[in-house]
Amino acid sequence: MKIRLYNAKIMASPSENIFDGEIHIDGERIVYVGTTRNDFMADREIDCRKNLLMSGLCNAHTHAAMSLFRGIADDLPLEAWLYDKIFPLEEFLTPDDVYWGTMLQIAEFVRNGITCFADMYFYPDAVYAAARNAGLCLALCCGLSSENSRDALKEIEKYFNKYSTISRRVRYFPGLHAEYTSEESLITAVSDFAAETGAQTYIHLSETLKEVGDCTVRHNGLTPPQYLYKLGFFDNGGLAAHCVYTDKEDLALLKQCGVVPVINGGSNLKLASGIAPVYSMLYSDMSPAIGTDGTASNNASSMFREMYLFSCLQKHAMKDAAAVPAESALLAATENGYRALGFEGGSLRKGNFADIVLIDLHSPNMYPHSDHKKSLVFSADNSNVLMTICGGNVVYDQGEYHIGESPETIYRKSEECLRKLQKKAATE
Ligand SMILES: [Zn+2]
Repeated sequence: MKIRLYNAKIMASPSENIFDGEIHIDGERIVYVGTTRNDFMADREIDCRKNLLMSGLCNAHTHAAMSLFRGIADDLPLEAWLYDKIFPLEEFLTPDDVYWGTMLQIAEFVRNGITCFADMYFYPDAVYAAARNAGLCLALCCGLSSENSRDALKEIEKYFNKYSTISRRVRYFPGLHAEYTSEESLITAVSDFAAETGAQTYIHLSETLKEVGDCTVRHNGLTPPQYLYKLGFFDNGGLAAHCVYTDKEDLALLKQCGVVPVINGGSNLKLASGIAPVYSMLYSDMSPAIGTDGTASNNASSMFREMYLFSCLQKHAMKDAAAVPAESALLAATENGYRALGFEGGSLRKGNFADIVLIDLHSPNMYPHSDHKKSLVFSADNSNVLMTICGGNVVYDQGEYHIGESPETIYRKSEECLRKLQKKAATE
């Protein structure tokens, strides 16, 4: 399918000026970005009506199927939230639940301009089946813990071999849930697998003060990044979600290993975990990405809200309104995420995947047209997303979803899955 998006304002990258022009798509790739021309024989022409085309957003950390648990455990401390509310339901999850939970999340993703995500959850085949419906870029991140690690290495090997070659829009990261849920033998085994295969790894890292304190007590004063570094977990780089309590030494180690921190401002704020040192990361030339974390802890998958928090939490923490500007948040939500996950996208360039969002500039919250980049971060929200294109396919278009399942079916199934899990947990 050849698509011509014309009469548009184009933000090819947050670090470049916005210009008037058009974009041509052939199959899953962008084949032209530039000024107006009339020589492209398109199957479909879309008049953008002077609205803004930008890269699709990359949600670099989530647990998609946890959308099933939205609203069941709020206003609780993190430990009670996880151990009393979430784990008892997760115990009964089936691949079918994960499929419908992921579909619910994907509907929300495309509605909100998200075209790429990194998912750490159970049943990767069910997650992949859901993501394939809508064609989002998908990074499957293994979240092993010592509790669920029986036959784990065989599983990692199986999924790594399957998903490393299945499509250029899918990647697989071996990894761990977190340091505090992993015995040393498991960390070493995953590190050895990464060393043998050259794979990058993924983990939750230094999310809470308790996690860091407990780790230093257990491991001779070493923080989670220092301890994992010692075991070779980061030898090929990778991604680390949260990084809330990371000091100068931790950040230097992560940078040296090429590990990209994924910032989850909304989740950290709602669970009262803290504020990640984004300013320090940027100041030391790191390129953090942004995630929403799971819907059970956020509770929205809104990269617009996360971009706002990415910038404004630093203004608050540093008592400096210039600390992290809007453009840094836009870069983190697009190019940094795509690059960290290894997908050819995050900017509107010839040859990149056609992962594109059309933003409504003709709405009250975007006027006057003074500075579109600032408005995208500080005043835009999901209601400004008019259209989302994933790998050259229009998957969301002003209220219409083209994601393989109808919203009505997804809503009904997600209700059924949650009620069934609650019933099983109650009778246990
Ligand atoms: Zn998480």
